[in-house]
Amino acid sequence: CGIVGYVGGQQAIDIVVQGLRRLEYRGYDSAGIAVVADGALASTKRAGKLANLEKALDEVPLPASTTGLGHTRWATHGPPTDGNAHPHLDEAGRVAVIHNGIIENFARLRAELEASDVTFASDTDTEVVSHLLAAEVAGGADLADAMRAVCLRLEGAFTLLAVHADVPDRVVAARRNSPLVVGLGEGENFLASDVSAFIAHTREALEVGDGQVVDLTADEVTLTDFYGAPAEERRYHVDWDA
Ligand code: GLU
Repeated sequence: CGIVGYVGGQQAIDIVVQGLRRLEYRGYDSAGIAVVADGALASTKRAGKLANLEKALDEVPLPASTTGLGHTRWATHGPPTDGNAHPHLDEAGRVAVIHNGIIENFARLRAELEASDVTFASDTDTEVVSHLLAAEVAGGADLADAMRAVCLRLEGAFTLLAVHADVPDRVVAARRNSPLVVGLGEGENFLASDVSAFIAHTREALEVGDGQVVDLTADEVTLTDFYGAPAEERRYHVDWDA
């Protein structure tokens, strides 16, 4: 339902939780966050209000990190439990994915993955993306190439964000028939389902067109279509009060 991603110089957890707060008005049933630190992923997710997630983060803090993503879920596939909350990780815990929308062909993809001995940890349609991305990266693909390859296999509507433990300081994203916008900062960049998530930090934004993939670092934003062809950059200034 709500999506936030961050790469920069500040603590990602603070920025992401603050962004999720700004998206709370849209409604949700669970929330979760993941960061990349010291070559590993760390993730916490909870059913219920953001306060539940914040309590869990207070009790067992995630490691300091300047790269992270967070999600508030409005369940479509699988009940609102801790386990079904996003992010969803692959079996090795190297990739974390958050998703808005519905993967219409997830049942077929899940059956294929299970036939090759992948074990699923949730009831969501989203989790197929984590396993597919992990397989692409394990096969040698760059994270953005992996995202493009996976998007070509997905039917339905999605905003997807992913981080990988082997690829520090980067967040990769994609969208089809579901909102996603980039916030451009100084030495930091943002991804969100809605500009209100990052408007406290920057009002410079970049449109992400339908069927595009975003490769985000603290200093660079690369936009392509699902086939890797460069996409035109459409910047704009957010001048309303959020
Ligand atoms: N279909 C996904 C799920 O049920 C994402 C729902 C959402 O947009 O929050 O987990």
